[in-house]
Amino acid sequence: MAAQPGATSGDGDALWPRPSKTRVIAVANQKGGVGKTTTSVNIAAALSMHGQRVLVVDLDPQGNASTALATEHRGDVPDVYQVLVDDLPMADIVKQVPDMPNLYCAPATIDLAGAEIELVSLVAREARLRRALAAYDAMEFDYIVIDCPPSLGLLTVNALVAAEEVMIPIQCEYYALEGLGQLLRNVDLIRAHLNPTLRLSTIVLTMYDGRTRLASQVADEVRSHFGDTVLRTVIPRSVRLSEAPSYGQSVMTYDPGSSGAMAYMDAAREIAHRATVS
Ligand code: ADP
Ligand code: MG
Repeated sequence: MAAQPGATSGDGDALWPRPSKTRVIAVANQKGGVGKTTTSVNIAAALSMHGQRVLVVDLDPQGNASTALATEHRGDVPDVYQVLVDDLPMADIVKQVPDMPNLYCAPATIDLAGAEIELVSLVAREARLRRALAAYDAMEFDYIVIDCPPSLGLLTVNALVAAEEVMIPIQCEYYALEGLGQLLRNVDLIRAHLNPTLRLSTIVLTMYDGRTRLASQVADEVRSHFGDTVLRTVIPRSVRLSEAPSYGQSVMTYDPGSSGAMAYMDAAREIAHRATVS
């Protein structure tokens, strides 16, 4: 079924305001399985369907974002590892996502697993991604979304140094807030020492199960701590979201009418419109 940009929106807006300069957003949380990749891919797809030029940088050696965006990341395809470690230009690895004219992906292969170690001995090891994106004329893009691995190592540090915004997906489960303090301290440290313009811009609540009281308690607690940083839109549990990657698609094209697709569309709209206020 063909995707219809704007089809899920109540206000019939086909094009969203473009930011005045590239917004680089690191999607980070050192916990695995909280929805970083699902959020990166679907927010990026939703933005691209509304007139934004979007690049997804896959910074997780597992390459889940590359898979979801049908971007080859096996064998010896050039990938983010070679950009970070071998100084390959970004232009040599970025691919347009099939059937998504405004969406691009910088893929990760399993080689990237070695980068955490190999980066340690390199010059400007924390700023390799930032430099690569700057040299790539990032002005071409409205959004660069960086899908981080589940750790706070040098790959995530590279993302936080390259970005101006951090987006944290929080799963509406019991241990949701565990580890969040450590992540926020890392963001503060990077702001203090490496990237003064970095800010926590967005928290998105994921895998919300409206039938449980726990989910709404977690959501309330996060909102009372973080206020307007938390998107009004909550991402529900939706099996369509977990099925889409195996078809090499975002849920936006796989099943645009599903609850997960509509929620990510609304979340992306909130993000796009926030650009115009702050
Ligand atoms: P992370 O990148 O943080 O490790 P993922 O985005 O890969 O997390 O999500 C972990 C798993 O949960 C994946 O199998 C994904 O398909 C699934 N998933 C993510 N968000 C949802 C959701 N809202 N509803 C149902 N399944 C989800
Ligand atoms: Mg992931």
